[in-house]
Amino acid sequence: KASNLQGYAPICLGLEDFYVRRLYLRIQDCFGRPIASAPDAWFDVIERISNDNNKTLKRTTKISRCLNLGSYNYLGFAAADEYCTPRAIESLKKFSPSTCSARVDGGTTTLHTELEDYVANFVGKPAAVVFGMGYVTNSAILPVLIGKGGLIISDSLNHNSIVNGARGSGATVRVFIHNTPSHLEKVLREQIAEGQPRTHRPWKKILVVVEGIYSMEGELCKLPEIVAICKKYKAYIYLDEAHSIGAVGKTGRGVCELLGVDTADVDIMMGTFTKSFGSCGGYIAGSKELIQYLKYTCPAHLYATSISPPSAQQIISAIKVLLGEDGSSRGAQKLARIRENSNFFRSELQKMGFEVLGDNDSPVMPIMLYNPAKIPAFSRECLKQNVAVVTVAFPATPLLLARARICISASHTREDLLKALEVISRVGDLVGIKYFPAEPKKQ
Ligand code: PMP
Repeated sequence: KASNLQGYAPICLGLEDFYVRRLYLRIQDCFGRPIASAPDAWFDVIERISNDNNKTLKRTTKISRCLNLGSYNYLGFAAADEYCTPRAIESLKKFSPSTCSARVDGGTTTLHTELEDYVANFVGKPAAVVFGMGYVTNSAILPVLIGKGGLIISDSLNHNSIVNGARGSGATVRVFIHNTPSHLEKVLREQIAEGQPRTHRPWKKILVVVEGIYSMEGELCKLPEIVAICKKYKAYIYLDEAHSIGAVGKTGRGVCELLGVDTADVDIMMGTFTKSFGSCGGYIAGSKELIQYLKYTCPAHLYATSISPPSAQQIISAIKVLLGEDGSSRGAQKLARIRENSNFFRSELQKMGFEVLGDNDSPVMPIMLYNPAKIPAFSRECLKQNVAVVTVAFPATPLLLARARICISASHTREDLLKALEVISRVGDLVGIKYFPAEPKKQ
């Protein structure tokens, strides 16, 4: 009901919240209520982000310092870092904030080539190409990889940038039930016979597109099964590791490392630098021939200004920390910490009686709210107690599957997490979203 929503707003931190705003605007249209009329209703302006994963929101009425449970800052690199920040500043002085040129028109600095070498090596592929934006990496690369006469088989919950790229490619798009290998196989079998050679099929090319960790579900991709099916039917596989690269795996190398999949079996590896690496941009990694081809044919590589030098330097430095090339063990500590924090937080929420989606080891944990009217109440009540959460709803999720999406970081301390659990528990009781009986506390 519009009246339930009035005066409240989810705090808007992610792309997904664009949809939330659209939903609310639509409700305003239908009911004539000025839901979005408060000046701060849709954009909380952040005045400062401190390196202990707190941020200061500038609100119309007051400025509050809150614990940030909403950003994708999985490893805590998106804040002043003792190794990364001085180097980013140095690169700013040396190369300026922007190359003001496309890669092929004098926009390739030594940082760009170094970055591509580091990324290829880190993700376990022979070569890589980087772009200035993660979203564009998907939406601009898919149309270069496949076109009319090709078939894309896409997970039903793939990110909007993939949907956009798939639609723009001109290829036929089929969707398989989210993370369900048996349904993927069914869809493939409807299109081609098992063992049919690539040259004798009705499709020029078949590309299966999946994500490493699904950002609205917190779920790990069933990659080993999906890779086996793609091999059986000779389909190419495209893996978006936006949320998994750097965040999971013993050395941060993503879901392949975590699930024991050989990267040679994943044809195209995509990822973004906006989460674990605390920077900007995206990458595609694959064979040398593929990357060379993309560099000469992808309009977003040929015509867009190259990734900014300080952003490139930030990524190189973050990877160096993960590889231990900074001369410390901070990288390994961060990786151990994010895993420990994620598994602790998830199990504590479950013990309290919340319904939490996703898998162990995933730093993304959606708490189910179900009723969209609970969204604003939940986020606003948490914010009142200085805990910032992101809430997501239709059409980023089905209408009655609204949720709060918690993102855990290696930079959260145990104290932070305990405080957040206390607040979420209180607000959970208030809003009525503990759908299971709580586990009795140990004495
Ligand atoms: N792919 C996935 C799976 C994502 O979740 C996102 C954004 N959260 C993107 C791509 C786009 O990345 P960016 O925000 O770096 O543009």
